[in-house]
Amino acid sequence: MTPLWTAQELAQATGGIASGDFVVTGVAFDSREVGPGDLFIALKGETTDGHRFVDATFAAGGAAAIVSQPVDHPHVLVADTTQALTDIAIASRARMTGKVIGVTGSVGKTGTKEALFHALDRMRPGQAHRSLKSYNNHVGVPLSLARMPRDTLFGVFEMGMNHAGELAALTRIVRPDAAVVTAIAPAHIEFFGTETAIAQAKAEIFEGLEPGGTAIVPFDSPHRPLLIERARMCASAIMTFGMGAGADVRALEAVPARDGGSLVTAQLPEAELCFTVAAPGDHWVSNALAVLATIEAVGGDLAAAGLALAELPQLPGRGERTKFPLADGAVLVIDESYNANPLSMAATLAQLGREHAKRRIAVLGAMKELGVRSAALHAGLAEPLQDAGVDMAVLVGTEMAPLADRLEGRIHFTHVPDALEAAHVIESQMRPGDAILVKGSNSVGLSRVVAALTGGG
Ligand code: ATP
Ligand code: MG
Repeated sequence: MTPLWTAQELAQATGGIASGDFVVTGVAFDSREVGPGDLFIALKGETTDGHRFVDATFAAGGAAAIVSQPVDHPHVLVADTTQALTDIAIASRARMTGKVIGVTGSVGKTGTKEALFHALDRMRPGQAHRSLKSYNNHVGVPLSLARMPRDTLFGVFEMGMNHAGELAALTRIVRPDAAVVTAIAPAHIEFFGTETAIAQAKAEIFEGLEPGGTAIVPFDSPHRPLLIERARMCASAIMTFGMGAGADVRALEAVPARDGGSLVTAQLPEAELCFTVAAPGDHWVSNALAVLATIEAVGGDLAAAGLALAELPQLPGRGERTKFPLADGAVLVIDESYNANPLSMAATLAQLGREHAKRRIAVLGAMKELGVRSAALHAGLAEPLQDAGVDMAVLVGTEMAPLADRLEGRIHFTHVPDALEAAHVIESQMRPGDAILVKGSNSVGLSRVVAALTGGG
């Protein structure tokens, strides 16, 4: 296997001192993730110090460590290990001659990042690299860069933030050739106050664009003017995607596909493309358009991307669909338990409304981090619930009280304190032919409802 890093390269990147000659084939800062041949970076956190686990990583087959205190193993000694991680990321980006894509947005980052990766990997098998999971913060992004093989042709990085200024710092490390904003929504709004402030903070991603880089902007967003204004300052080109007339990559038509998902006809800058998106819902049509705009921006193969979108693997907790049999029929469970905010709630409720089902049931948990607007935004779910023709709602947690007040007399609902109770209600009331959407912020623990329903827990 080609080494990912040599001792000399690591010493040079970090300004540290290497204890000897070694090579590593992987990088981790979670000691439990270290396997044979890997480099362990001993970060000092608020509660734990990675240096305590250095011995364990070598017992697991680790090849070397980055440390700020000498150890009796192959290592590079640096002043600050967190800075060293960033330095390695910067060196990784500097030696990379392919194209780099940064993906941000309030929703759809991981989904769009994964879809982009599958499209690029289909074009150039084994030569595309992506961040794992939602590794999108000040350590997750550098780690993902540090893991990028030296011969990568396309790197795709998810980039997140909770506060203004965070993306500005990250994007200068990633230096994207194409920077995508998927959508703006009131997620983490308690740290920002307004959605405009969120849009401004997301637009920071454009500040790190490489010369010749492209900004990719959601056409249908009310924040498009702001995003475009910011993009103009940094980008050589701007591409918009969406449903509205005037978008550079535009869905002319999107209809439900026979086997789930959507069948889309899209107008691209130079051609029309018909493709299927495996994941259902207009929000996934939007993500697919973002993917095509990005592929166009980095000179990729649009036809291959279209094929890849038809074969997207399901992502746990983000729309994963399980049909399980009951005595005389089946129940469809749509697992959206990984996260929730007003925009993604509306998007997935709209999709629930389009499911062919005898009854539509929504198990909805709290949307966290909404600050002073929490009560109003929860109450505001009444309209999408009604529009979707939901037959029964199970509302989970105290945050749902304002919504319960609004639904009184309008939709049949039960309000329960926690996920366990929700599972009991659903188990006793579900019937063959039901479609059940389970969605809430991760910390509400609605994955337990899904596990109870699908037999996983
Ligand atoms: P996180 O900030 O937690 O990493 P993320 O931005 O990576 O989130 P995803 O994990 O891709 O977001 O998607 C989370 C949920 O958001 C999905 O399960 C779906 O309900 C919804 N979603 C995805 N894309 C969109 C979109 N374009 N518009 C609205 N909702 C979306
Ligand atoms: Mg994510």
